[in-house]
Amino acid sequence: MTVSAADRRIRALRPPKRSVDPYTAHGSVLEAERRPDGRVEQTLTAFLVGAECPFTCSFCDLWQWTLDGPTPPGAIVAQLERVLSTLEGPRPQRLKLYTASNFFDRRAMPRDDWPALARLAATFEAVTVESHASTIGAATLEFARLLGRRLEVAVGLETIHPGAMAQLNKRLEPAKFDHAARLLADAGIDLRAFVLLGASHVPDEESVAWTVRTVEYAVQCGAAVVSIIPVRGGNGEMERLRALGLFTPPTLVQLEATLDRCLALAPTVVAADLWDVRLLPACEACREERIARLARINLTGLAEARIACEACDEALAT
Ligand code: SF4
Ligand SMILES: [Zn+2]
Repeated sequence: MTVSAADRRIRALRPPKRSVDPYTAHGSVLEAERRPDGRVEQTLTAFLVGAECPFTCSFCDLWQWTLDGPTPPGAIVAQLERVLSTLEGPRPQRLKLYTASNFFDRRAMPRDDWPALARLAATFEAVTVESHASTIGAATLEFARLLGRRLEVAVGLETIHPGAMAQLNKRLEPAKFDHAARLLADAGIDLRAFVLLGASHVPDEESVAWTVRTVEYAVQCGAAVVSIIPVRGGNGEMERLRALGLFTPPTLVQLEATLDRCLALAPTVVAADLWDVRLLPACEACREERIARLARINLTGLAEARIACEACDEALAT
């Protein structure tokens, strides 16, 4: 992929990468997640270390968990074996293989590792991998066949705001996402979409509305699950955009408002990503209550009354 001026600028602003070991996953988490049929699944996510993604999205902070060169053959398998060896209790139903990059990029995920990965995944009912819409194609179908399990591909749609989408440096247009979604649907592969809350170049007062519109678009494209991801700062580029008035960090209240408005989109599961939720600007008095409410809604999909908070009301009145 040609390196553009925007790629160079974004990369130059990044803080140093973390030191990662190609044979040790940088984390794993066990979570409960609702599916479109109402079942609540146990999901194991393995955060795997591999080659850096060739795309350079302005908001991305996944590169910090990547290697400078290609993923060594066998490394991802070794990482997954170690993660699975620490599992206790009943086997979760779903395994998410998150590579901080694109699963179908040969540099990040060597094809020779696929059979061993499929063997390790054989004790799970379903597997989720991540990919840019552009790297979904024949290889995706080949991996699904080899896996012999229900496959889900998580794809970043991010935002359909026309001006903002072009500014994300993701090299994505809605037509590319539509094409990938159709290919997955025709092959019986599930689609999980990632949608941003707080994308740069979307005016803050329109942020919730554009996120809801983008979630609706993903649902129209057949997404089984949509994760709403609040944009995080910290990669240098987001701080540059913030200084220019082009990025406003999303708040916890905006995340609640977005999720509340998306509940009508069932049976698609729309969930708020809560991995870094405590970093979102919020009222100290009711933050934990609001987070607990979001976690409940993620699991049930049912609307709940908004949190009443005197401290929030006082702040609004002043
Ligand atoms: S495609 Fe995904 S991993 Fe690659 S730069 Fe964009 S957000 Fe990051
Ligand atoms: Zn409050």
